[in-house]
Amino acid sequence: MNSETTAGRGNVAICPGSYDPVTNGHLDIIARTATIFDKVVVGVAGRTVRKQQTLFTAEERAELIEAAIADRGLENVEVEVFRNLLVDFARSHGARAVVKGLRAISDFEYELEMNQINRRLADDIESVYLFASPEYSFLSSTGVKEMATFGADISELVPAAAATALAERLAGTN
Ligand code: ADP
Repeated sequence: MNSETTAGRGNVAICPGSYDPVTNGHLDIIARTATIFDKVVVGVAGRTVRKQQTLFTAEERAELIEAAIADRGLENVEVEVFRNLLVDFARSHGARAVVKGLRAISDFEYELEMNQINRRLADDIESVYLFASPEYSFLSSTGVKEMATFGADISELVPAAAATALAERLAGTN
């Protein structure tokens, strides 16, 4: 590909995920991606096969991310729910890169499979992996939901709006 076509497509990255809800680990990856690319589109998976039950609707999950990126002043980041194939969503934004965070070996195995599927579907879109920052390498949405369910303090792990939303959603479920 010549430099003209590369420039024409822009320097856009997609950060996809279920974000149920967004954690400080996700935000760390999003913020770091925003320093490398001109524009980041956070893609909130609205129709997932592997994770069937979410605590929040896709629109609620997107709103929590929007609040957090506004708080952090990340101006080149936008959020959008997608319900199609990730590679088609990436193409619709003219993105050549999908950026994901890697925490542990378990993420690696999953990401290797996803990478090979996506490569087969669209070999012009490259997946890029950032290692989790050490302080967030244990952090997952599932772990946060588990802690919140049993009343543990999660205020250091998720943005304020997500902590409030979790408390409200889980109230009465204990
Ligand atoms: P999960 O439900 O496992 O928290 P998502 O499907 O919402 O994750 O993840 C979206 C992306 O964010 C994935 O690339 C995932 O590996 C990454 N990610 C999730 N948590 C962290 C973290 N604490 N640090 C770095 N990357 C993370």
